[in-house]
Amino acid sequence: MSTTAHPPDAARTAYEPVIGLEVHVQLLTASKIFCSCSTRFGAPPNTNVCPVCLGMPGALPVLNRKAVEFATRAAMALNCRINETSIFARKNYFYPDLPKGYQISQYDKPLAEHGFIDLSANGSKKKIGITRVHLEEDAGKSLHEGFPDSDEKTAIDLNRTGVPLIEIVSEPDIATPDEAYEYLTRLKEIILYTAVSDCNMEEGSLRCDANVSIRPRGRKELGTKAEIKNVNSFRFIREALVYEIARQIEVVQSGGEIVQETRLYNAHEGRTYSMRSKEQAHDYRYFPEPDLLPLVVDKKWQAEIADTLPELPEALRARLVKEYGITEYDAQVLTVSGALAGQFEAAAMAAKNPKRVANLVQSELLGRLKARNAGVEQSPISMKGVAASADLVESGAISGKMLKDLYDLCFERTKDFPDVYEEEGRPQQSTDTSALEKIIDEIMAANPKQVEQYRAGKKTMIGFFVGQVMKASKGQANPQLVNELLTRKLE
Ligand SMILES: [Zn+2]
Repeated sequence: MSTTAHPPDAARTAYEPVIGLEVHVQLLTASKIFCSCSTRFGAPPNTNVCPVCLGMPGALPVLNRKAVEFATRAAMALNCRINETSIFARKNYFYPDLPKGYQISQYDKPLAEHGFIDLSANGSKKKIGITRVHLEEDAGKSLHEGFPDSDEKTAIDLNRTGVPLIEIVSEPDIATPDEAYEYLTRLKEIILYTAVSDCNMEEGSLRCDANVSIRPRGRKELGTKAEIKNVNSFRFIREALVYEIARQIEVVQSGGEIVQETRLYNAHEGRTYSMRSKEQAHDYRYFPEPDLLPLVVDKKWQAEIADTLPELPEALRARLVKEYGITEYDAQVLTVSGALAGQFEAAAMAAKNPKRVANLVQSELLGRLKARNAGVEQSPISMKGVAASADLVESGAISGKMLKDLYDLCFERTKDFPDVYEEEGRPQQSTDTSALEKIIDEIMAANPKQVEQYRAGKKTMIGFFVGQVMKASKGQANPQLVNELLTRKLE
């Protein structure tokens, strides 16, 4: 049976989707969560392993303190309440890439609970609740392709087994695929700011599963949900949700029932497929991990970790807007990473006039980048370069026109401002009074009528003369000086 996934609009508006997201984030510790093996990505298969992460009988786990610190810092950045005592639990299931036959995770007593992320899409604000953040170990990797005998065998790489993860579970507060996308974007940004993960989706450092159901608009009870697993980009998650919501509406509209199941998204076809139904769903038989003590993160340790929290993106944007008079949009662009925001601020503060740096970024830099469809990370002109150019304009050494030309050259040559400024022989706008006076005399002689008009009281003619002098000086003259000299000569 084929699913068109395009129910009519009336059907769409009669139902509302309910979405919850589960995000796994790999923590940037040097070693694994319960042993001292390296977590480095890309090592030859099965070289970063030991008896503990291979699940050998008798090998005992020892908790990595750094993993706890990172998980706690991330949970704090997500506005969670940290539980002073949390419990590790065994999640039992059989899978070839899980040598112990269970994964050490946290179940009914997680590290942190009751957090939230603020969304501010399209000018409206919304809070998405975070149910919990817990610590767990990763499983290994099954490789189903890439070997000569891949059609009959699956290869296993256990380097990833025991790498520390946090799982961040949202409340089912997300109402649209766009909101899901926004939530993930904000979540990733916050995690990057805390520097506990690189959130590299290609290397699997950030993975997302989505739970989605529909219900008649206005009804309280939740419908039966489907879980979409292993989608490897935020864009694909949005697409998968759009497809899945439409599919569920169509099933219900045509008198069918939604079954609880796990589905996979095929990005090439733009549709989801059933992977396993509820009857095949796992019963994980969770029980407390007998080889690990309860995890205690007491108030003192919590305070130490709280001290390591950086200024988070939301607060940073609000402050940049207030302190430097930049727009909300520019604040968004300048805070894509904490590093860039830091560079901007350092440049703004080092420059003689911070506002001028902000203005140059807005008027000269972002516009040029946008025209080239490039992000600010790809800018040939660094924030230091912007600061240097701002100072040159501030001191009157170069004019606004010269700055524009120099910026154009920077983009043409993909070189930073100070380099191009040197290459161009450190141009200065002309402050050579005698040379300017000569130009002015010539222009006055060539335009006697305009001189007469000015002297008859039409003072606005000054603009005409300034324009002519600037043109004759090829934009090199200092406009203020030109104005002064002109006024003196014409009076
Ligand atoms: Zn190990």
